Amino acid sequence: MTQIVKRSYKYRFHPNSRQVEELARTFGCVRLVYNMALEERTRAYTLNGRRISYAESSAALTAWKRSGDYEFLSEVSSVPLQQALRHLQAAFANFFAKRAKYPTFKSRKKSRLSAEYTRSAFRWRHGHLTLAKMDAPLNIVWSRPLPKGAEPSTVTVSMDAAGRWFVSILVEETIEPFAPAEQTVGVDAGITTLVTLSTGDKIANPKYERTDRRRLAKAQRALARKTKGSSNRAKARLRVARVYARITDRRRDFLQKLSTRLVRENQVIAVEDLAVRNMVKNGKLARAISDAAWRELRAMLEYKARWYGREVITVDRWFPSSKLCSACGTLHDKMPLDVRTWQCACGAIHDRDVNAARNILAAGLVDK
Ligand SMILES: [Zn+2]
Repeated sequence: MTQIVKRSYKYRFHPNSRQVEELARTFGCVRLVYNMALEERTRAYTLNGRRISYAESSAALTAWKRSGDYEFLSEVSSVPLQQALRHLQAAFANFFAKRAKYPTFKSRKKSRLSAEYTRSAFRWRHGHLTLAKMDAPLNIVWSRPLPKGAEPSTVTVSMDAAGRWFVSILVEETIEPFAPAEQTVGVDAGITTLVTLSTGDKIANPKYERTDRRRLAKAQRALARKTKGSSNRAKARLRVARVYARITDRRRDFLQKLSTRLVRENQVIAVEDLAVRNMVKNGKLARAISDAAWRELRAMLEYKARWYGREVITVDRWFPSSKLCSACGTLHDKMPLDVRTWQCACGAIHDRDVNAARNILAAGLVDK
């Protein structure tokens, strides 16, 4: 079935100096408005148990703009400020529905710098995107094309910790499902091999990741040695952010290709529940990165499966995928992590991860 989905395309862009100034000011106002509205909501909630609505927050924003202290809020586009209030509204809705913790203030240092523009606050013409309060279009690096005839509905501008500028463009896109596939697959997540498939295929972490990780560890050590508040520390922090940004970018690219391949080839994809891996507490960098990669891959598999008419099945977190012989079904007591291959009493010789992937597939197909 053909579907129309909302999809965002993210690109880097290079702002000119006036755009940098405008965006920096907008980011600051977005953060301020969010924090002030959060304060008001918190006061009403803790003092009177009262919930403030979006409309009330919006009226407060208008009042702030008119008051002497916050007149500068009128200098930036009003849309990103209103969007900040909408995000706050959503955060509270999630909190009241017990889906999330109580919203927190956006800190100057840690919060993501971003501003969201809806249709009335940007111009899209002949492939040029111009934001409100700007006279020149953004100089976007079109690393891949937007779908033909796409009409952006929302545009989000952000700057990451490495000082890079991004624009994320939300469009509606028509997705045609893939033709049905015969194959099914079980996926086991690992550390050295990113994933192992029930077919016996092992997909390693990309080669560069080891080098990048070493660089990251080195940059983090250098950062730790710098004096707090010094300019060298700021430089060292930027260096860490840059190496980290490169790791995540390359990884995302790799995971995009891998998830597309798995979804294209298989009708059913069985995976382990995320919680299994969250339970393993380990501060090691390799572990943290592989956990993040696995989470990201899972999310990609899920939305792509929805788009292309496939099914992702999650296998229960308590399922003993490593201890079960996938040939005869005998459950073994122990299977220490350092045992990579083993032989069952039935004669089957197993690669630990392939065996786990096969069990995950079998369990997934039973649950179906
Ligand atoms: Zn066996």
